[in-house]
Parts: sequence; structure tokens; C-alpha cells
Amino acid sequence: MEIREFNPLSKKYRKEFKKIALVYPNRYKAGISNLGLQQIYSEINSLNNFICERFYSDVFNGERSVESGSRLEDFDTGLFTIQYEEDYLKAVELSIKVAESIAGGPCIMMNPLPLKEHFKSFFIGEADDVVDRILNGDKIEGLYDGRGKVKRRYVRLDEHLKSQIIGTGAYGEAVLLEVGRGCRRRCRFCVVRQLYSPCRWRKLSLLLEVAEENRKYSDKIALIAPSPSDHPQFKELISELLNMGYMVSPSSMRADTVDEELMEMVSKGGLKSITFAPEAGSEKLREAVNKGISEDDILNAVEITSSRKIQKLKLYFMIGLPGEKEEDIKAIIELVNKVKKFIPRITVSINPLVPKPHTPFQWLPFGGDESKTPEENIKVLKNKVNFLRKELRKLKVNVEAANVDRFAIQTILSRGDEKVGRALKGVKIREFRDCLKQIDVDIELPWDFIDHGYSKSNLKKEYEKASY
Ligand code: SF4
Repeated sequence: MEIREFNPLSKKYRKEFKKIALVYPNRYKAGISNLGLQQIYSEINSLNNFICERFYSDVFNGERSVESGSRLEDFDTGLFTIQYEEDYLKAVELSIKVAESIAGGPCIMMNPLPLKEHFKSFFIGEADDVVDRILNGDKIEGLYDGRGKVKRRYVRLDEHLKSQIIGTGAYGEAVLLEVGRGCRRRCRFCVVRQLYSPCRWRKLSLLLEVAEENRKYSDKIALIAPSPSDHPQFKELISELLNMGYMVSPSSMRADTVDEELMEMVSKGGLKSITFAPEAGSEKLREAVNKGISEDDILNAVEITSSRKIQKLKLYFMIGLPGEKEEDIKAIIELVNKVKKFIPRITVSINPLVPKPHTPFQWLPFGGDESKTPEENIKVLKNKVNFLRKELRKLKVNVEAANVDRFAIQTILSRGDEKVGRALKGVKIREFRDCLKQIDVDIELPWDFIDHGYSKSNLKKEYEKASY
């Protein structure tokens, strides 16, 4: 793969340097859009005795660096960022090549047990300002060596990476502006809000300073946060960015934050397509997941969107939610049908819920129905996917339907332990079917050793509110 990027953060090698490999065991396109990774890269290359180079799974198969083509084996330490459960196997394959390897990232913050025997240690939390201490082997909050308990570390957001690598990533060739971390909403399925709480926003003045400084490198800017349109000064931010001449691309938008003024701004900023996540077709299930969005919010947002030049819409739905009935599945089709009257070019994405650790849904069975066996739940999910695919195609919308078995494996990997980690080369559903079952709320969970700052009794209350 040929890489074309502007990189102000790289460093020239000298033989006294300790070599650090920053490994992202997934595609370059996703990795280059990860500002956290760029932050770590910049921190390491600003240190006197270290040099850092990057590795992506689709560049030299992850075995040679982007910067110099150096072999992973020639590096002293590998810092791995693990974003998705599907990356575990590649991460393990690559970790063997480097003398010492440390893993971090959202999957590790959630449950590092499947990778416990494959890495020397783990970092649970945000490493922005402690990378030097991790490399020096200091005992700091968030570092987990496989023993005892660990408290997640988080940082204040009073700084932002000043200059950054511009490559072709998920947002195209764009400047990345991280407007905040965490989320003030309480969707019960959402692991992001649990891993990155508390909700923190960057100051408008700081964001504008960073945007101004990077203006010369790109015409496009991506606004990054779990829910960027919740930033208290979101409209002022977009307005100022437009004044700077940027095309503005928010990473996502909640339907209930959309109004005429905002849509006018983002369409002026060059937005051509938009994504909303109703998650469920019926009000009842949106309440069960605590999405906080009504059908009116969705239709209102879509109507406003259709009056601008935004003609492409993507809708995300989940299936396998607690209390889900046949009428809730049909409600997805009815909602898409209503939306289609406003915007004809729609893609509908259907995915089973993965009940993730640390969320109020962590105790749910995969498939959502505790009266069924894992195999029965999988079969029901497959039937729902087939039904939705068939009915939605009749509406002439584009359907992206999940492979249910892959989501079952994802659940096993996210709720599994060392035994799952030993079977990474071929995780079988029948072997680890227990990971797909409902979990008793009173037992200690494998991932309870991680303190994310929430109270388990509150999590249980949230879980009970969603039960039918
Ligand atoms: S709004 Fe989005 S990021 Fe926030 S809790 Fe809900 S799903 Fe998670």
C-alpha cells in the first residue's frame, strides 16, 4: 500500500535512541484517523532518547514501519492500540515479533483478559501525558501487569496536539479536531461512555487555535467526539471554522441536536451525507436502551436534512435488544418507510447488540432473550436479519446486514478470559457458548478488577430499568 502523508512529527534515527514501535493492528485508514495514536507518537518523538515509528496491518502486513520500512523485530518496545476485538489475532501475531509489548486502547480498557498471556502489561486509560513514564517502567495509575486491581486513568483536556500527521483516513485528507471525550448521555448499551467518562469538552478558544494553526495543511476538518454535536458551543465552533474556509465534517450527529440553523451550517460546510442512529424502530425499545430520541426527533431531523443539499442518509439499528418482539422488528421497517419519504437514498445498517462489559447491558445474553439457549438466540437473530433484509429491499433501500456469527464471536472476545485468549486462532461458538448466556447479576465478573469509577449498584438499577 502506498502512503501519501504530511508528517511533521517524525524524527531522524540516531543509534543511541531506544526504538519504540507504535502498532495499530488494523488498517492505515482507521489508524491515521485516531488522534490518540498521533498524540502518543508525538510525545515519544519529543523525548530525547527515544524514536517512534508506526505499524499498520495493511502496510507491509504490519511487519515494517511506515517511516523507514524498519522491521518490527528491530524495535525495543511495541505499544499496541487495540480498537476492535477482531484485531486480537493480528495483535498477538505481531506482539511475538517485538521484545517487549504493552497494549492499550478501548478493548483493553474494557477487558484485557483474552490478551493477558500475550502482552507484558496493559495500560487502562488515557496515556496522553504519561507515555514517558510508561516507557520508563514507572508504576503509575492505569498500568496493569496482570495482578490485582487497576483504576482507569483519565486526563484533563486543556491541551490539544498542535500539529498533526495528515494522511487519507476515515474522514479523507482532513485535520482532526478532538472536541471532547466521554458523553453526557446514558445509552445503556454504550461502552464508549463508560470507558471515557466523565464527559469533557475542549474550550472553544483552544479548538479554534488548533484549527487556525493547521488550516494551511487541509481544507477539511473533522470534529471528533463520541457525540460532537453535544459540545456546548457546537454552532459557534462550526461557524468559526466556516469563516476560516474549512469544510466541516462532524464524526456523527444525534438526531435531537439537529435544527435548521445547524443543518444550514453543516451543509454550507460541505456535508453531503449524514448518519443517524435511532438504534431501535419502536419508542418502547428506544426507551429500553435509554437512547433519549423519539420518532419525532428522527423525522424532524430527516425533514430538515432533506431541505438542504444532503441527499445521502445512513441509519443504524440494533437487534437482539432486551424485550424485543416481532412488532419491534416491524417497527424498523415502518420507520425506514417514513424516513424514505424525505430522503430516498438510504443505507440501513443492522447489527446485533454486543452486550459489553461495564455497561448496564453486560449481564444480558447475546440475542437479548434469557429464556433461550445461545444457539436459539443466534438462530432467532439470523431470522430477524433475513426478514429485515428482505423487507427493507422491497423499500429499495441499501441494506448492510451483519453476519450474526461474527457478532457472537465479538461478544465472546469482549466478555472472555484467558481461555478465550488461548484459542484466538479459531474461536468456536460452541466451545465458548457460556460467554453468550445471561450472567447472574450477583456474581463477580471477570472484568470487575478494573475500576472505571461507576458504582455497580447503579449499573444494576439501569439494567433492571431495561428489563421487561
Ligand atoms: S449518545 Fe452515543 S456516545 Fe453517547 S452514550 Fe449514546 S451511544 Fe454512547
